[in-house]
Amino acid sequence: MKPSHIEHLGIAVKSLEESIPYYESLLGTKCYNIEEVKDQRVRTAFFRIGETKIELLESTDPEGPIGKFLEKKGEGIHHIAFAVDNATDALSEAESMGIALIDKVSRKGAEGMNIGFLHPKSTHGVLIEFCNP
Ligand code: ZN
Repeated sequence: MKPSHIEHLGIAVKSLEESIPYYESLLGTKCYNIEEVKDQRVRTAFFRIGETKIELLESTDPEGPIGKFLEKKGEGIHHIAFAVDNATDALSEAESMGIALIDKVSRKGAEGMNIGFLHPKSTHGVLIEFCNP
């Protein structure tokens, strides 16, 4: 499962409308994709920083995962996504190491990626995602 790089950092924001121009000026690069992921009840906006992306996450439902995160913790880093060859294989490998999973098999995320999450209770409090194109 050895990840090749950090594919993206997920950052929970209250409003894409407000945070996109902020990140565009901070990073000196334009947001290149905005996409709603209905399944996760979010709208996402992406920026490229070398091989890594910044994924801004805006909730579309207060009861969804980002809605609850914002309610509990406010805006901030939500998850780290590692690029792996095969997200489902990486999840199985993590499970065999005794790591609790949120997803047993990968599902479709933003940008057509196969994604799956480890449970933060098993990862020192960090929500970790594996993804592959
Ligand atoms: Zn992500």
